[in-house]
Amino acid sequence: MTDTSADLVILGGGSGGYAAAFRAAELGLSVTLIEKDKLGGTCLHRGCIPTKALLHAAEVADETREAEAVGVKAAFEGIDIAGVNKYKDGIVARLYKGLQGLAKAHKVNLVEGSGTFVGGTTVEVDGTRYTGKNVILATGSYSRTLPGLELGGRIIASEQALALDYVPKKVVVLGGGVIGVEFASVWASFGVDVTIVEALPRLVPNEDEFASKQLERAFRRRKIAFKTGVKFTGAKQDDNGVSVSLESGETIDADLLLVAVGRGPNSAGHGYEEAGVKIERGFVLTDDRLRTNLPNVYAVGDIVPGLQLAHRGFQQGIFVAEEIAGLNPRVIDESGIPRVTYSHPEVASVGLTESQAKDKYGSDVTTFTYDLGGNGKSQILKTSGGVKLVKAPDGPVVGVHMVGDRVGELIGEAQLIYSWEAFPEDVAPLIHAHPTQTEALGEAFLALAGKPLHVHS
Ligand SMILES: Cc1cc2nc3c(=O)[nH]c(=O)nc-3n(C[C@H](O)[C@H](O)[C@H](O)COP(=O)(O)OP(=O)(O)OC[C@H]3O[C@@H](n4cnc5c(N)ncnc54)[C@H](O)[C@@H]3O)c2cc1C
Repeated sequence: MTDTSADLVILGGGSGGYAAAFRAAELGLSVTLIEKDKLGGTCLHRGCIPTKALLHAAEVADETREAEAVGVKAAFEGIDIAGVNKYKDGIVARLYKGLQGLAKAHKVNLVEGSGTFVGGTTVEVDGTRYTGKNVILATGSYSRTLPGLELGGRIIASEQALALDYVPKKVVVLGGGVIGVEFASVWASFGVDVTIVEALPRLVPNEDEFASKQLERAFRRRKIAFKTGVKFTGAKQDDNGVSVSLESGETIDADLLLVAVGRGPNSAGHGYEEAGVKIERGFVLTDDRLRTNLPNVYAVGDIVPGLQLAHRGFQQGIFVAEEIAGLNPRVIDESGIPRVTYSHPEVASVGLTESQAKDKYGSDVTTFTYDLGGNGKSQILKTSGGVKLVKAPDGPVVGVHMVGDRVGELIGEAQLIYSWEAFPEDVAPLIHAHPTQTEALGEAFLALAGKPLHVHS
């Protein structure tokens, strides 16, 4: 058994792991990054990037169908799924190549294989031990299912949904969170008859109620069926289809059942528990500096409780690399992490929902909602929705919630406003280019500062 040492050993080469590797290398540390599959992890190969490529193809399909409404002659003839997949896979392949080049340029020692954390600061891969001065656990997450609901055949998770080589006729989507809503949106644009089943009372239940209402209204218009506040009780499949039963006694027949009920932490089978890493409900517990209970052992990404988002993983990876290098980075504010659901329309938010703000600051929280009906660019794009601001009593804006096509692109500004703890009066004098959708944010701040411009009273 050989022993190879480095300043930093990282187990898992997804968003969290590779970000830590690159930043640590930039800071002059020697890095060993262990990955059993492909550098880039879930986000690049089975998550963010391929789903957004599908959503873009879906957008093109919708635009083609609706071309006549803007005086353009075009005929929508259908979806060539092989062509869609080629486009999607091409993007992933290009980004993967770029990422491999970056790993090389950073002189990261990339070890291919399945690693086991054996305690101390050592990870073992196929009999070789890699010992770091520090170790980062970054093994990510997997698609969860419900008790008694086995994935297989016509019952699929997002991984299989991304790899479909046909367009189904009818799909039931179990789960009205981000992943379920995004796939429902894609399939509806591809002409699929979609029904979402969500046990909680509303779609995107982690978002502000305003966002759920707006999204539900848009989905109704798009004829995407959804049943909220209804529990799933079982599913049976045969050669012809899958039959999904609900607590209400209803059954829905479909070609496929997509299970999108969340992602579980991938923390079992890698030696964590055996080595004494503190784990709760499968998640690796850390303090706010991402230290586990074991000395010099950190954890980042989806295995750490909190938002399971790629950019959170990136930031956590950068944070730990800087922490190890002694730069004393600022603790990450989880509420300041932007959240985007890339459906048609999009939902984007940062900070607290109105109800979270009321729990924190009391009932004197103020809100203002600007309707995209007053925003020229949104009218040009034929999208509807709005921007809702949540303001602490005598305090800054603590939440921004937006619904509408392309509002995900506005979240950068919203995030800066939230993170600098801006008052409406700070933002109101800043000029937003006309006609852009950023004006909707500007108008909301003008109104909240007491000087509304394009607002009907
Ligand atoms: C369908 C879908 C869509 C998504 N869309 C978005 C989005 O639009 N925006 C966004 O921010 N987030 C999105 N996410 C979430 C995002 O993909 C995750 O938050 C992110 O990938 C988490 O990064 P991570 O590094 O923690 O884990 P992962 O990316 O899962 O990486 C973990 C890596 O560790 C490796 N590994 C595991 N065990 C071992 C072992 N024992 N030895 C060696 N290697 C191991 C795995 O092979 C994997 O490559 C999406 C997820 C899904 C499923």
